[in-house]
Amino acid sequence: MTTAPVEYLPPVDSAREFVGPPVDPEDERIEVGVAIVGGGPAGLACAIRLSQLLAEDEALAESLGEVPIALVEKGKVPGSHLLSGAMMKPSALRRLLPDVSESDWPTYGTVENDRVYALTRRRAIPLRPTPPPFRNHGNHVTSLAQLGRWLSERAEEAGVYILGETAAAKLLVDDGRVVGVRSGDKGRGRDGEELSNFEPGADVIARATVLAEGTQGHLTGAAIRHFGLGSEDPQQWELGVKEVWEVERPLDAVIHTLGWPLRLGPRYREFGGSFIYPMGADRITLGLVAGLDYRDATFSVHDALQELKGHPLVAPLIEGGKRVAWGAKTIPSGGFWAQPRQLWAPGMAIAGDGAGMVNVPTLKGIHYALFAGMFAAEAIYERLRAGGDCRDLSNYAAKVAASEIRTDTYRSRNMRQPFTKGFFVGGAIANMMELSGGRFPGGRWATHDDATVDVFLGDERDYPKPDGKTTFDKLSSVFLSGNATRDDAPNHIRVQESVPLELALMWQNMCPAAVYEVPEEELEAARRDGNGQLDGKREVRLQITPSNCVQCGAITAKGGRLTPPEGGDGPNYQFT
Ligand SMILES: Cc1cc2nc3c(=O)[nH]c(=O)nc-3n(C[C@H](O)[C@H](O)[C@H](O)COP(=O)(O)OP(=O)(O)OC[C@H]3O[C@@H](n4cnc5c(N)ncnc54)[C@H](O)[C@@H]3O)c2cc1C
Ligand code: SF4
Repeated sequence: MTTAPVEYLPPVDSAREFVGPPVDPEDERIEVGVAIVGGGPAGLACAIRLSQLLAEDEALAESLGEVPIALVEKGKVPGSHLLSGAMMKPSALRRLLPDVSESDWPTYGTVENDRVYALTRRRAIPLRPTPPPFRNHGNHVTSLAQLGRWLSERAEEAGVYILGETAAAKLLVDDGRVVGVRSGDKGRGRDGEELSNFEPGADVIARATVLAEGTQGHLTGAAIRHFGLGSEDPQQWELGVKEVWEVERPLDAVIHTLGWPLRLGPRYREFGGSFIYPMGADRITLGLVAGLDYRDATFSVHDALQELKGHPLVAPLIEGGKRVAWGAKTIPSGGFWAQPRQLWAPGMAIAGDGAGMVNVPTLKGIHYALFAGMFAAEAIYERLRAGGDCRDLSNYAAKVAASEIRTDTYRSRNMRQPFTKGFFVGGAIANMMELSGGRFPGGRWATHDDATVDVFLGDERDYPKPDGKTTFDKLSSVFLSGNATRDDAPNHIRVQESVPLELALMWQNMCPAAVYEVPEEELEAARRDGNGQLDGKREVRLQITPSNCVQCGAITAKGGRLTPPEGGDGPNYQFT
């Protein structure tokens, strides 16, 4: 028996709830020149590039008022919610900060050696020569949480006003045009009641708004629906869980693995792999990524990563070491066809992961996000200079279309889709595409919505028991993320709380932060109904602990909806 998450979507009226006109009286609105939502690579590059351009044009800067550029970030600081591999192609950062020497970047430098392995449970078979998508010569290893903090300092030095701990909760649209965003309320209790420290949100009004919200962007999704910007091919997602380890021995190569602990057959559709990167002499980053169109409800990326650490290839790398950071996040993986048909609407542009600017085979998105942020800044600047109206931002789309964002994602446009046929068939087709520069087999391979993929309840997985040394449970992982969400904060996760057991268990296993739990009495009842076996179709009531959430976005891909919690909530990543 199977269930598709799409059959149990929660009621969310995005147009009514998340889009609307300004509500504050005119004299209470916060007026800024350009509003940027999101302090990731896309948002920060946009802020820095625009400040560079305005620095050369004092009259224009003055015409934008006291706050020419404001950046709204829901994490404690820009960087708190950032997580990535993070193997960065240097081209975009060189263009953004041409006067800063690469040796002054907050990175761990470049790596000479690449190694790729196909794993079985006990063996690691080297793939030689290194397949092109895995070649990382000249790329910098960094921590996106650190890069975000560093870029936000550069932005502040250049005069950008950064509003940290502030979630943009509503897209302000007036007369068919985006005029800014409304920030979320603060100080509400579990049932939405106003607490003693209550502060209402505020309208931030801008001449142009850039949505740089990253993966599963809350306002981005609302804007795409409201203005009809979406592609006919739905976006797809992968979930990445990452740990940083202090280690005794330096790692001298960039390692990628395919295969185990993912199951490769079409029945399971566990597409993905692991990345292991050196972070200087005494740290490594270690992560596992898996497509969210997998089918077995018992699969857990968090726990598969724990399993991976026991593999003979990986165990020696962390032996005697200590886990010092953990986090999780989704990656848009629909590729070129799933990118929005149009990257702008009157008064607004979408940049970075929010617009699906990720090259899936190479697992790269940081430099595209930086480029897109710069292009948005340049397009807005051109419009402001030409008379101040940012209604038509087609010049932004033209810049993206003429860049490597388009050429690279177009080249790999059909590489993710064949993996629905299983790893071996999918891998063979993707290989042909790679060798032919994306030309063969060609055509347009449709993507699918992850929530439409049926899930079934497989045999219970035998993941390793957490020992607190190399393997950990989800709650200790959440603790390490620095998550400090109030227990009595309003529930920001929309799901149906009564669903078939197979769906409830899929959410329980999928969520890396232990937000969903099927109570033991429900499991017992399901066993009684199934004569000792779990009856997957039995409806059960989920227990939800939203304060654990690290805002990875997976629930939005698999039948629920993540909305931004109060600004400042969620993880406070330091090295991810
Ligand atoms: C596990 C994993 C491994 C990866 N590995 C690599 C790699 O090795 N190399 C590479 O190049 N790329 C990699 N990527 C992809 C890369 O990290 C992204 O493409 C990149 O971070 C996108 O940048 P962005 O600015 O668009 O979004 P993000 O980096 O996600 O930043 C968005 C920011 O906006 C904020 N925000 C969102 N919504 C709101 C709101 N409503 N209000 C206020 N603030 C908001 C968020 O808190 C966040 O700070 C990886 C991604 C993952 C998850
Ligand atoms: S509840 Fe939060 S942490 Fe869990 S899957 Fe959903 S978004 Fe990710």
